[in-house]
Amino acid sequence: MNPFRLTLLLVFLFSISNLTGQALADELVVYSARNEHLIKPLFDAYTHETGIKITYITDKEGPLLQRLKSEGRNTRADLLITVDAGNLWHAANEGVLQKIESPQLAANIPANLRDPDNRWFGLSLRARTLVYSTERVKPEQLSSYAALGEPKWRGRLLLRTSKKVYNQSLVAMLIAEYGEAQTEQIITTWVDNLAAPPFASDTKLMQAILAGQGDVGIVNTYYFGRLLKENPDLKLALYWPNQDSTGVHVNISGAGVTKYAKNPRGAVKFLEWLSSEKAQNLFADANMEYPVNPGVEAHAYVKSWGSFKASEMNLARAGELQSDAIKLMDRAGYH
Ligand code: FE
Repeated sequence: MNPFRLTLLLVFLFSISNLTGQALADELVVYSARNEHLIKPLFDAYTHETGIKITYITDKEGPLLQRLKSEGRNTRADLLITVDAGNLWHAANEGVLQKIESPQLAANIPANLRDPDNRWFGLSLRARTLVYSTERVKPEQLSSYAALGEPKWRGRLLLRTSKKVYNQSLVAMLIAEYGEAQTEQIITTWVDNLAAPPFASDTKLMQAILAGQGDVGIVNTYYFGRLLKENPDLKLALYWPNQDSTGVHVNISGAGVTKYAKNPRGAVKFLEWLSSEKAQNLFADANMEYPVNPGVEAHAYVKSWGSFKASEMNLARAGELQSDAIKLMDRAGYH
């Protein structure tokens, strides 16, 4: 090759690599198990602030994880966003997330709401708590998750299906708190008290209480918030259990940088921004959740449901004990 052509080729190659580098720095690709209407406003705000373009796809947790695994090194995804520590732990365990070091994330997110190995980080918090009929139950009659197994709730308790990860995480955390034997006993008494077969959703469960099918159940706070918004005279209220012991079971929605991210630095920067004071309300308020950043207050509407002591156990336990929880619920006849 003559020197002139070689120079041309080198200039060409240099500009190509520069272009790709530029494109990478200005773009992020997100796989999200959270609905578009919850994440799009955040992406738009970030793009507005930084000029960085965010491309995303949304799907259910299972297909997204499968996709990340089969794409391997060729994935375009920089970030996985999903709900429930059980799901995040599972993704990390499947090897699709990478460890990242960020003093900012460590400062903004309490240690129990992120992976001890720094592969996933909670970005918003929800409580899985008790809900009761204000027409048929007095809050003084309630106390703890375990007490829902007392004989006085025979034929009055409603639960969502044990197939849902929210309940698997709840039971995993009960195992971490009480041990297997005691937890199995608690779940067995819950099953004894069921007023109806488990429901497909938290919302259906609450509608069943309103219809008089049962009097008390366990739900995520934001589902209660949605119903309350539709009907301010809702004859339901939340109750915060375990206040003089372990605290309310909380869970997160969160994210992790993918193992083969093309723009890992950009992904970390975006995570840091999401955990920052200015973005936390955007993230949490969209789904009526609580910010994870202790320096940020929940929306007034969410705060109106009351304050509570939350469990401080690391949510990684919800993942570690997930398969034990599933087996235990099966043994106890909770389906
Ligand atoms: Fe949900």
